[in-house]
Amino acid sequence: MILRTLYLRLIRDYPCVRFVEAVTEYLEGTMPTAERTRFDLHLKRCASCQIYLEQFRETIERSGRITVADVESLPEQARNELLEAFRDFHTPR
Ligand SMILES: [Zn+2]
Repeated sequence: MILRTLYLRLIRDYPCVRFVEAVTEYLEGTMPTAERTRFDLHLKRCASCQIYLEQFRETIERSGRITVADVESLPEQARNELLEAFRDFHTPR
């Protein structure tokens, strides 16, 4: 299926772990345009990262700024979903 192929390529080129690392840059607006395009594309396709970004945003709105403690206090569930998605795509078969 074409859509599935595209999806798998997208995840390989821009995996969830990269997304999570780049969230701060994205929200601060310091991300280069080329990466932003790939970030947005990943976001559109990946439900786990949508949840992650949403919760990250809420944390920032609550605190007014991003701190290490904020990142660490992100809900476990979102993190676990991400880790699981990541594991699925990268487990050798
Ligand atoms: Zn993702």
